[in-house]
Amino acid sequence: MPLFEFTCTKCAKVFEELLTLADLESAVVACPECASTEVDRGLSSFATGGGGSAGGGCGGGCGSGFS
Ligand SMILES: [Zn+2]
Repeated sequence: MPLFEFTCTKCAKVFEELLTLADLESAVVACPECASTEVDRGLSSFATGGGGSAGGGCGGGCGSGFS
């Protein structure tokens, strides 16, 4: 699930919310600090496919049929 970063335009509080993209369309995100809904949205952490931690699971020993 994407983690969105929001910055409150009123008090400059930065906070994060986990929202689905569907939620993002309809959800009203309010600042936890001042309850303002005037927040700027940024994308904080998202599985953008750049990962790079894949692999390494086999380590050369998982080929049971290897001969
Ligand atoms: Zn605020």
